[in-house]
Amino acid sequence: MAHGIFEKIIAREIPAEIVLETPQVLAFKDISPQAPVHILVIPKTPHPRLAQVPEGETLLLGALLEAAREAARLTGIESTGYRIVINNGPDAGEAVPHLHLHVLGGRKLGWPPG
Ligand code: 5GP
Repeated sequence: MAHGIFEKIIAREIPAEIVLETPQVLAFKDISPQAPVHILVIPKTPHPRLAQVPEGETLLLGALLEAAREAARLTGIESTGYRIVINNGPDAGEAVPHLHLHVLGGRKLGWPPG
């Protein structure tokens, strides 16, 4: 029985609209989208946040970025543009303690973020 929300999604214990899956990574639509396209890309290993990924896990970190790029292509925002965000810790608004990349696109995104 998986514990965290994202672990339950990986285990298919709760549903999610999956965009892509590799042996290391899962990408699925955010349940509360902040843009027309809003995807979360997560490692299947439950690192709580970027700061807790052990040094040297470059293959995993690279796989996450590659999956984010591929998820953007699959959802049709490659040419219009998109933003990739990691919220690490309280000041960034991190709510789910399982590392995830947000991929946002499909509208003009303001900068800097609030
Ligand atoms: P954070 O604030 O931690 O960077 O982002 C967590 C994200 O997870 C939020 O955008 C939130 O909408 C999303 N989320 C939380 N619970 C679920 C869920 O059960 N399913 C999906 N698909 N997304 C979720």
